[in-house]
Amino acid sequence: MHTVCVIPGDGIGPELTEATRRCVDATGVAIRWEVVEAGEAVRQKTGSPLPESVLAAIRRAKVAIKGPITTPIGTGMRSVNVALRHALDLYACVRPCRWMEGVSAPHRGVDLVIIRENSEDLYAGIEFDDGAPETQELIGWLQAHQPKTIRPDSAISIKPISKTASERIVRYAFEYAVAHGRRTVTAITKANIMKFTDGLFLETAREVAKAYEGRIEFSERLVDALCMQLVQRPQQFDVLVLPNLYGDIVSDLCAGLIGGLGVAPGANIGPDVAVFEPVHGSAPKYAGQNKANPTAEILSAVLMLRHLGETDAADRLERAVRAVVLEGKQVTYDLKPRRDDPTAVGTSQMADAIITQLRGLSPKGTVPATSSS
Ligand code: NAD
Repeated sequence: MHTVCVIPGDGIGPELTEATRRCVDATGVAIRWEVVEAGEAVRQKTGSPLPESVLAAIRRAKVAIKGPITTPIGTGMRSVNVALRHALDLYACVRPCRWMEGVSAPHRGVDLVIIRENSEDLYAGIEFDDGAPETQELIGWLQAHQPKTIRPDSAISIKPISKTASERIVRYAFEYAVAHGRRTVTAITKANIMKFTDGLFLETAREVAKAYEGRIEFSERLVDALCMQLVQRPQQFDVLVLPNLYGDIVSDLCAGLIGGLGVAPGANIGPDVAVFEPVHGSAPKYAGQNKANPTAEILSAVLMLRHLGETDAADRLERAVRAVVLEGKQVTYDLKPRRDDPTAVGTSQMADAIITQLRGLSPKGTVPATSSS
């Protein structure tokens, strides 16, 4: 019996998480789900959007699955998603982008993996607000120590990139490549402009790559050139390793390459704990409408099952998702050729179709429940 923490999230999160849990339960793997809440509603009740009790529960279980959580744009509370990654040292964000037969996408056959550094960069949350006394002090210090002018009405975000975190994430990317039979790791930076921060990331990547010579190829790209090449010829890429901000942006680009955010899963991995979540956000406009695609979160659960060592269940669940997507009937609006297709089904109906498929796929070593012979 595994214990898994569940954070339903908000917006479309709770309905997707419920659909995901039903699919995982249908694999037959014994899981005790421990539901914990985070986000704005919890902040209103407890004063914190990410109470210590939630972190403690995840640390105990070591594994969690989460729906997306809304972050106000520009103002308001800081991202609970980012805070969770920092608090649990979930330093590696792993986002496989694999095209599924049946999905209408700009390219066929895309199969790449994004390994995004999750702990630092501009996501460190070190910011100085426009007009604040500390900001004025910082601007004064910066003017005294370097020649460039900073306007006094500036806000400032700090971009720390360390050798320690860079080495850890690049090593993770290479080890991932070895473990998953991948050929190439490509480091993505803007090291021609940010010579110190991105320069350090790239220099560290080159050093780490030496230990894998002859086993895994190493290449490098500037992030702007990468974006163009991803749009034109994504099949040339295998494992991409990126600092935090580029990793976030390129993740959505790659989701677009395989059919959209509705089908892009992810995992946040740390030394002790792993939290699985889709790439997409809480899509508030679809909240509570039984409309959003549960595939990204269900495929995140597939990654979770593999992490738990439940390989057979993971394989079956993935095959069931692929079968439903390939058939193209019992799928949500975003997987239909036209967004207003009246035959699109809802979140829970798509989960039902996946569960029906699963029932036809026998666990290894058992007789199928239904047989066509
Ligand atoms: P979003 O990913 O929520 O949605 C963008 C659009 O993508 C949606 O309007 C919808 O058209 C489509 N989409 C997303 N998920 C879908 C699904 N499962 N099925 C079908 N279509 C889907 O991005 P956003 O609108 O920029 O962000 C909304 C909120 O989510 C923000 O508060 C943001 O901070 C938050 N967010 C949270 C996470 C997370 O929890 N890890 C990640 C990204 C964004």
